[in-house]
Amino acid sequence: MSFKITGLGGCKEVGRSSFLLDVGEKILLDRGVKLTPQKIEYPAKIKTNLDAVIISHAHLDHSGELPHLFVKSRPVCYMTPPTLDLAEMLWHDSLKIAGIEGFDAKFSKTEIRRTRRFTFPLGYRTKIDITEKVSLEFFDAGHIVGSAITKLVFDDTTLVYTGDFKVVETRLLHKADIKLGSVDYVIIESTYGDSDHPDRHQVEKEFVDACLEVVENGGNAVVPAFAVGRSHEIIDVLVEYKVPYPIYLDGMAQKAANITLKYPKYLKNVKTLKKALRKAQWIKNERERKKALQEPSIIVTTAGMCEGGPVLYYIKRIYNDEKSAIFLTGYQVEGTQGRRLLDEGVINIDGKDYRPKSTVRKFDFSAHPGQSEMLKALKRWSPEEIFLVHGEPEKIEAFRKKIEETLGIKAMPLEYGRTVKVDGK
Ligand SMILES: [Zn+2]
Repeated sequence: MSFKITGLGGCKEVGRSSFLLDVGEKILLDRGVKLTPQKIEYPAKIKTNLDAVIISHAHLDHSGELPHLFVKSRPVCYMTPPTLDLAEMLWHDSLKIAGIEGFDAKFSKTEIRRTRRFTFPLGYRTKIDITEKVSLEFFDAGHIVGSAITKLVFDDTTLVYTGDFKVVETRLLHKADIKLGSVDYVIIESTYGDSDHPDRHQVEKEFVDACLEVVENGGNAVVPAFAVGRSHEIIDVLVEYKVPYPIYLDGMAQKAANITLKYPKYLKNVKTLKKALRKAQWIKNERERKKALQEPSIIVTTAGMCEGGPVLYYIKRIYNDEKSAIFLTGYQVEGTQGRRLLDEGVINIDGKDYRPKSTVRKFDFSAHPGQSEMLKALKRWSPEEIFLVHGEPEKIEAFRKKIEETLGIKAMPLEYGRTVKVDGK
């Protein structure tokens, strides 16, 4: 039977992921936003009633606009329990930021409550019928706690949406569960479609060495890290390598840590994480921030792309200090402050440009798969056709070519605002 997929966002870009699957019934896959310094970009409007909404994981570029749907409609949503809790934390934070910066968040606390009420929390490897025709099963995606690969079966067709995933295991999470059975169509992320990541242990070691060099010279290493996942992983690395200097944790990562620890089943080893988090000093107020900067220290803090949060407080205070450093630890989306800092060596805080004299360096702690990891998964699934999303245009094109060359499977990028009709089996 034939079906249609429409790209509403996250097409040839990273951010505002949202795709509409039309099998007669309408299923929405993700509803994210794209945060840039100038504005929030939203996915294209949905002009139809939805039969179900599926959220792959909590990151705002996949979940950020979901509550807005509840201003006018009441679709039933599916996501894992940690995704719901973490997304809720991020939605409240979005409201707070909107309040401070004076823009319209497009939803209120009422819509957040409503979203929770209309969400059916679903764990991994439990198959359920979500509409007359469509069944859903989540698999561990290995990207952040609660992240899911979505498998949909309708008629005789299986469609997989990877969301963001990670095929090799990381410090806190199991590798993605890619044993999905037979797969006909795949919508796959392409963030690193053109390259492979360096060995994780090597990255950890280089990161620890770089941190040690900074603190041994009397500086502060400020480590911007995503609230969900990355900041905890970084703390875990520093503790594991027994770094003998104060390690601080600041920002929303603290709340995210408390939520994460509520879900031991979704983690590889909750004990190690707990132990690591206990060793870090949790910063609660400005006085403690000052104190953290008065001694050589490593400060892990949000936001990971320097778009806000306590990290800006620290950067403003260390940027002139050659002994100190800013160590980025995650993907820096085009147009964000973190990307500018990395590419141009400049960051704008409260309308003023700062050119750090402190070292700026990025470490590849990616929670996304490299090209070979993705090819491995695709080879296993061996679908009839592949749709590429969630990547910058050059990366998508490189990935498309590679897939066709090595696997001989037709691959095409989804385009913003366009619908592809798939003839199916
Ligand atoms: Zn993500």
